[in-house]
Amino acid sequence: MRMINVSKLKKGLVIDHIAAGSGYRIFRQLKLDELNDVVILMRNVPSKKMGKKDVIKIENHINLDLEVLGLIDPHATINVIDNGNRTKKIRLALPKRVEGILKCKNPRCITQYEKVDAPVFYLANEENKTYRCSYCDSPTQFVEGDLG
Ligand code: ZN
Repeated sequence: MRMINVSKLKKGLVIDHIAAGSGYRIFRQLKLDELNDVVILMRNVPSKKMGKKDVIKIENHINLDLEVLGLIDPHATINVIDNGNRTKKIRLALPKRVEGILKCKNPRCITQYEKVDAPVFYLANEENKTYRCSYCDSPTQFVEGDLG
């Protein structure tokens, strides 16, 4: 049996400060179950700042979809670990522009009847995660169900 030292990752990524309860959604949405690397999802970890938080550790450097991650939890952070030390810290944010994630809800929008592969939306309101369609300017609020 291979022993995994959870607290000391030698090389990889730590997605930290995930709102408690969002860890599994991120895990699923980023398809971390399809990786061959060691992936650890920790839920309800005590946190001074947040009370409780979720943390995901990935024992490898992989490309994460920061747009999707930022949409689900803009307050999470990513630590890049090399040789047991943090070499980089990435602060997530709500993406200013998203492509191919949202669908326009305006029934008269061109994207409803013409095939648009990856519709582009621009952030309109950070508070309630509202984006504007780049074709018709209609607002669309991001809800996690949109990610499928
Ligand atoms: Zn539209």
